[in-house]
Amino acid sequence: MDFSIPPHIEALRASIRDFVDQRLIPLESDPASYDEFENVNLDLLEDLRRETKAMGIWSLTMPVERGGMGLGLVDIAVLYQEMNRSIFGPVCFNAAAPEDGNMWTLHKLATESQKDKWLQPIIDGSLRSCIVMTEPAPGSGSDPSGMMKTTATRKGDKWIINGQKWFITGGEGASHFILLARTSDDPRRGLTTFLYHKDQPGWEFVRRIPIMGPEEHGGHCELKFDGLEIADEDRLSEVGHGMKVVQTRLAMARLTHCMRWTGMARRALEIGTDYIREREAFGSKLIERESIQLMMGDAAMRLQICRMLVMDAAWKLDQGSFAKKEVSAAKVYVSEALSHAVDTAIQVCGAKGYSKDTLLEWMYRYARQGRILDGASEVHKMVIARELFTQGDDFWKWGA
Ligand SMILES: Cc1cc2nc3c(=O)[nH]c(=O)nc-3n(C[C@H](O)[C@H](O)[C@H](O)COP(=O)(O)OP(=O)(O)OC[C@H]3O[C@@H](n4cnc5c(N)ncnc54)[C@H](O)[C@@H]3O)c2cc1C
Repeated sequence: MDFSIPPHIEALRASIRDFVDQRLIPLESDPASYDEFENVNLDLLEDLRRETKAMGIWSLTMPVERGGMGLGLVDIAVLYQEMNRSIFGPVCFNAAAPEDGNMWTLHKLATESQKDKWLQPIIDGSLRSCIVMTEPAPGSGSDPSGMMKTTATRKGDKWIINGQKWFITGGEGASHFILLARTSDDPRRGLTTFLYHKDQPGWEFVRRIPIMGPEEHGGHCELKFDGLEIADEDRLSEVGHGMKVVQTRLAMARLTHCMRWTGMARRALEIGTDYIREREAFGSKLIERESIQLMMGDAAMRLQICRMLVMDAAWKLDQGSFAKKEVSAAKVYVSEALSHAVDTAIQVCGAKGYSKDTLLEWMYRYARQGRILDGASEVHKMVIARELFTQGDDFWKWGA
């Protein structure tokens, strides 16, 4: 087992590290860097993206001939972690959600002409895209295949979409949408995936849902469909293969969340460490106190477990495995370890940790979504248990 990094990935890692330290981290403390939803403002982002493109670090998993870097998931596990030491990092490299999962889905499943039309502009960064799946109750949430209410009804060479979706990340201002809708009552093959453009009539932007944390660009939105017409040539994959599309997307998208979260957790521990190195109480530096060391050591230990879980799942996906239980385990563990790391850093920073003078309160609010989005922790544990009960000894087998 060899965890060393090949020289070209190490060189990329070092460049990203430099960019984050020199360019991004100084911007985080300037209020002018932010938009009204606490993310990097779009004008500044445009400049930063010009710089990352000039560095040649852009759309990392996409094919080189389409303007990406052709990297595998093990490679990007190293690089995404480095990027997200800044809260502005991933989006500067076109490596943020939901874009990276959307690109992956189209890259894996779209036809070449669909890729030209729907994927290429996302790789180029010339527009934003969404995955449109979740619905308000009583519709699809944790159980999309069983509960999806939005319908796609065939009419000649078109599909007519009716229904409602919510929590669609990036929904305000996005141009390309990957939509899941019910095409039959078949319990396994009832859903199909479609692609549509924002300018097509028959759908409505209802609202940007206010949330607890800082927002991705375009927010988390509610959308209504009232007779949206989609040509059959804009159907992604086969009729009834919607859940297959979802699985293809989510395996990667869940894991890249985990990669980014390990970077954020690292940064939280750096902020905490800087404070306890300097701060004194009761005659000694906080860093010298064993109880503080136990807290920080525990958080760092959890983070190291995260890195191993992510690498294991990334390697298995790179080998062509679905890595279902590995991705679920990483998703549960890393989302919880991120919250724990940020909470620990806040605690050791005292009042300063609770203030907006550090990024910790931003991270604290942001981290909470991790245990819900892309499948709640409880659902992932259910998935792991199902694998345990059905796979027998194979559950514990080594290798992909
Ligand atoms: C910040 C954010 C961004 C999101 N972005 C998108 C997006 O871009 N596109 C999109 O389609 N969706 C998006 N979502 C929706 C997200 O994927 C869903 O919230 C998630 O799948 C859970 O569905 P739900 O909210 O309907 O929860 P529900 O299905 O209502 O479940 C509620 C709670 O019940 C519990 N629960 C559910 N099932 C079980 C079970 N089997 N056993 C035990 N407990 C269970 C869990 O604790 C769960 O949190 C986003 C959500 C958030 C918070």
